[in-house]
Amino acid sequence: MSQVPFYEVNEAIVAMGGEDLNLCMQCGLCSGSCPWRLVDGEFFVRQMIRMGQLGLEGYESDDILYGCTTCGLCPQRCPRGVKIIDVMRAMRSMIAEAGAIPGVLKTVLGSVHGKGNPWSEEREKRIRWTQGLDIPSFQEGTEYFLSICCTSAYDVRSQKIAKALAGILTKAGVSYGILGNEESCCGESVRKIGDEILFAKLVEKNSQLLEGKGVKKLIVNSPHCLYTYTKEYPQMGAEFETSHHSQILASLIESGAIKPEKAIEKKIAFHDPCYLGRHSDIYDAPRSIIEAIPGAELVELKRNRRNSLCCGAGGGRLWMETAPEQRFSDLRIHEALESGAQILATACPYCINMLEDSRKNTGKEDEIEVLDISELLGASIGI
Ligand code: SF4
Repeated sequence: MSQVPFYEVNEAIVAMGGEDLNLCMQCGLCSGSCPWRLVDGEFFVRQMIRMGQLGLEGYESDDILYGCTTCGLCPQRCPRGVKIIDVMRAMRSMIAEAGAIPGVLKTVLGSVHGKGNPWSEEREKRIRWTQGLDIPSFQEGTEYFLSICCTSAYDVRSQKIAKALAGILTKAGVSYGILGNEESCCGESVRKIGDEILFAKLVEKNSQLLEGKGVKKLIVNSPHCLYTYTKEYPQMGAEFETSHHSQILASLIESGAIKPEKAIEKKIAFHDPCYLGRHSDIYDAPRSIIEAIPGAELVELKRNRRNSLCCGAGGGRLWMETAPEQRFSDLRIHEALESGAQILATACPYCINMLEDSRKNTGKEDEIEVLDISELLGASIGI
């Protein structure tokens, strides 16, 4: 970036969606609210914005720009209304265009490009999670396309979420189906990493597939997919009615289509995933599922709802190495134990991965379980 005058780079960031960049007055409230201040880390939001104002001058280290998990806490506090994540994304897109993104993220992008998923897994294995289950294919007249996140399609722990969700939908008589190995990543991490070109291609390809199959309504099990389909696809002219599984499951309970009957006599805390809560304003649906389970006692974490603490996996961080002393999810496990919870429930495959790891890293495996709400509900209806 150093050969280009700083004001031209600044203008380019603004043009790429970072319109608010120059509104920033460097007050530092964003850095003060960032979860990085809770751990032993060197990422500061204010400095990241300043670097953008100065035309990415001083961009030397991935830590400055790729530390952000896009959790959405700091834009809530910014007195100038700076859309900090959009600014960060615009800066990352410039870095991506210059081919300077961290190597591990290049692998992720290459995998999405070549195999349709970020996990470097073969496309043919996408429906491996359905083995032994009777999962319907989407066909004409099917109401919902069940869009299982790449993580829950390929990761063994996360596949349990997909299985539980499909089992509940089947038991409730919901009209749903999958598209199988034709499905590709929605592109959520691709955009957060900064590859706008690949993201646009994914939007086009996925839209053509869904429209060609007659899909109008989606159920997604990842809040990241939810955000991407509801907030980012429409920016590119692609609109699909998309619901998060917590919303669908809550409505099935409310309508009486499913009845949780088996008691779970435990204290259960709900960890609000950033992209379900702050980014999509869904707080009550997952809690109503827990409250509907006989014997379950919902307890709140110290940081909850709009103030929830990020697990650390958003913004492409899921694939980046995070030192043990820098893991937000470890803090979350401690908070859950402080609340008295015996189960830490959540509703996001990224959060599940991070919290499961932290449960082991912190040596608390015997003290707390980490479960998706679909797994909890599945246990209570006996599937
Ligand atoms: Fe700039 Fe807003 Fe951060 Fe203050 S809170 S430093 S105005 S981005």
